Amino acid sequence: MPELPEVETVRRDVSLRYAGHTLVDIAVTGRRTVRRHPPTELARLTGQRLVGVGRHGKYLLFEWEDGRVLVVHLRMSGQLLAAAAGDPRALHTHGVLVFDGVGELRFVDPRTFGELFLATPGSGTGPDAGLPALAELGHLGPDALVVDAAHLQAALARRRAPLKVVLVDQRALAGLGNIYADEVCFEAGLRPDRAAGSLTPEEVGRLAGSVRTVLEAAIAGRGSSLRDLQYRDLYGKPGRYQLDHKVYGRPGLACPGCGQPVQRVRMGARSAFVCARCQR
Ligand SMILES: [Zn+2]
Repeated sequence: MPELPEVETVRRDVSLRYAGHTLVDIAVTGRRTVRRHPPTELARLTGQRLVGVGRHGKYLLFEWEDGRVLVVHLRMSGQLLAAAAGDPRALHTHGVLVFDGVGELRFVDPRTFGELFLATPGSGTGPDAGLPALAELGHLGPDALVVDAAHLQAALARRRAPLKVVLVDQRALAGLGNIYADEVCFEAGLRPDRAAGSLTPEEVGRLAGSVRTVLEAAIAGRGSSLRDLQYRDLYGKPGRYQLDHKVYGRPGLACPGCGQPVQRVRMGARSAFVCARCQR
């Protein structure tokens, strides 16, 4: 499932290729792809110029010149792929946006959990500077790439849930999932199964730094593609950051910090990868 670094990689690529161009056609054929309003409402975007592409957590925000915002949520297996008009369509192509001069942007989603919807600007709480407030995203916590220690402290305080459970809770912090929560905890030297509220202010400060360090490195590596290859960038290429994972998906392999085998620990319905020596 794409997490913040994968979605940010797609955002940057989409923005570079399509921003400034006008939508000349949009067609959605997937029955589940647009489910919050009639799919025909998307036709209103035809003739609009794409002003920019924002992101909050794992949601992409396509901003148009009339102020409308098209939200794209990739969820489990959604992909946005650049294509020329004549290119054969991949199986599970559920939506096609045609732009003047730069060809098509296709939404491919084998598992159909992903979705597109027109958001309602001007209501709900604003996510980050420069992005419109959207009622549909009002439940999200701050974006993990810009979070600070004060916010993390507030999100973790008095929570008895394991640290990892809070880190992947999009209402507390938007953008982290299974992979990066484990990598962040390792970077910070903190066990993901510790009670979230047990962290000292010093540990929370370290955690905030680790969130940013890990996410920035993962974005530089163009995200992580696991064996299922469900994450691909705009040009169909896998990311590289999986090669730099320290603990995620590495049970029994040597911890890069101390050489001890990485363990898999269970926490209710979730599990996490951890080095028992490096993480406390
Ligand atoms: Zn270790």
